[in-house]
Order: sequence, then structure tokens, then C-alpha cells
Amino acid sequence: MKPQNILNADLHCHSVVSDGTLTPEALAERAKANGVELWALTDHDEIGGQHRAAAAAKAQGMAYLTGTEISVTFAGETVHIVGLGFDANDAALKQGLRNTRGGREQRAMEMSDSLAKVGIHGAFEGALKFVGNPELISRTHFARFLVESGVCHETPEVFRKYLTEGKPGYVPHRWATLKDAVTWITQAQGIAVIAHPGRYNFSANEEYALFTEFKEHGGRGVEVITGSHTKQEYLKYAEMAKEFGLAASRGSDFHSPDESHTDLGTLPFLPGDLTPIWELLADRIQA
Ligand code: AMP
Ligand code: MN
Ligand code: MN
Ligand code: MN
Repeated sequence: MKPQNILNADLHCHSVVSDGTLTPEALAERAKANGVELWALTDHDEIGGQHRAAAAAKAQGMAYLTGTEISVTFAGETVHIVGLGFDANDAALKQGLRNTRGGREQRAMEMSDSLAKVGIHGAFEGALKFVGNPELISRTHFARFLVESGVCHETPEVFRKYLTEGKPGYVPHRWATLKDAVTWITQAQGIAVIAHPGRYNFSANEEYALFTEFKEHGGRGVEVITGSHTKQEYLKYAEMAKEFGLAASRGSDFHSPDESHTDLGTLPFLPGDLTPIWELLADRIQA
């Protein structure tokens, strides 16, 4: 048998159920074509696509773990917590996610008002045209509108000039607490994972606090190999995983063939000296 770290697992991506552009079925097909052996769909704050994703994975002969990516507010910043291998019918998890999605429409209207002040009109309606799930209007949908309407050439430019702190279209938002997100996942028999830690603007102390509190609440994993990490960040977070006794996860964070630079199943393998998160989830994998 090949070592557990040499597994083409992709445990982070998005469908039309949140801010991706492909259906769960199209993602499953693309993952399989790219050689993915273990897959999870991790839509933002939403598990409405889980049954479709699991069925599509099965039809492709690909192993599947349930997934989601929960928006959390920690130390004044938005942090994402991935949940894997939970029971998708768990009532408390479903209610927690419903509450987390709750403020998005109001926030979107405020984002639109903020953009109108710099002369960009109709952003709410414009973003809505890209939304697949009415409960999940996100900054990504605004970004697509800003590209479509010619305000920006591409998504990275949108997030440099708009929608982020200090820029037009930015509206601060309070998401779930770290404790709640980890608890919902864990009590639904899943495992909580810190998503793309290299993306947060934390000081070393704040990052240490995030990892420490995450563990105290029952979190067990961290994304080491993700589409948004540099090679140096692979090394840094491999060390952090060992220091904190966390298992390691691997996921592209794929959203769209037109926008994502990392395709499903194309990342480097996990370093061999880490515990792959799928070792802890062996009994939760749907064959
Ligand atoms: P929201 O949950 O509405 O705050 O939207 C967050 C989403 O916006 C993320 O999941 C990404 O898909 C997208 N996003 C945020 N920052 C960037 C960025 N710098 N480049 C591309 N996409 C981004
Ligand atoms: Mn996203
Ligand atoms: Mn994320
Ligand atoms: Mn993501």
C-alpha cells in the first residue's frame, strides 16, 4: 500500500451552492478527471449541496467526505474554518449555518450603497445575477459583477481596489464565533480544520492565539497545502501543525475554471512527516 500522504485528496472547493461557478456534479467530474482520489465539497456556510456531491462522487467512483467552510470572526478578522466528515443531517449544525448565512442580504445591500457612493450603480442587482443560492450572496458575486461591467479586468484587481477593508464596497460583518463553528462541526461527528492560515493579516501573537483557542475548542486540523499558500507557507504551516499537534489537510479552494489559478487535484502532496487529516476520518469516508 502506498503511504497515506501520497493520496490525491482535494478537501476544499466551492460550487454554485455558494460562490463557485460549477455544479456539484460538474466539480465531481472535473475532480475525477484530474485524478482526485478523495474529494470534499466545502461551500461557504452551507451544506445544501452535500447530498448531490456525495451522489456525484459515488457515480464517478471517487471517495467522498462531507464538507463546509464556516465564516468566523476572530480578533476582529474573518477566519475560515473547514468542517469535514460531519453528519450532513445534524440539526444543530444546519441551524448554526442558517444563522451564519443570515446577515448576508443586508450586508450586500450596504455594500451596494457603498459602491454607489463612488459612482458604481446597480451592484446589488448586478451581483444577484451571479448568485446560485439566494441565501449566499457573497463578495465573489460582487467581484463578478465588477468584472462583467468593465469596472475591473479580473477578480484580483477587484479585491485590491474594492470590497476589502478601507476600500469602497467594504462592509464589516460579524460571523460565527470560533468556538461555535468548531463545536457545531465536532458535535456533528466531523473534524474542524483551520482554512488557509497564510491568508489572515494576523500578528504572530494573534496567530498563536488562533491556533491555541482552536485546539482548546476541539479543532484537530490545519490546511498546510492549499491553493493560496506559497512554498514558504507550506513549510511554515507544516511546522505549526507539528508544534500544535494538528493533522494536515490539502485542498485547492477551487471556485471557477475562469478565476481559480489552482485546479482541483493539482497541488503538491502533503509532506510525509505530517498526519493526513483523512487518517483521522477513515470511518467517515463514503466509498
Ligand atoms: P464573503 O464570504 O462574502 O466575505 O466572500 C469571501 C470570498 O471572496 C472568499 O471565499 C473568496 O472566494 C473571495 N475573495 C476574498 N478575497 C479575495 C481575493 N483577494 N481574491 C480573490 N477572491 C477573494
Ligand atoms: Mn469563496
Ligand atoms: Mn476561505
Ligand atoms: Mn474556500
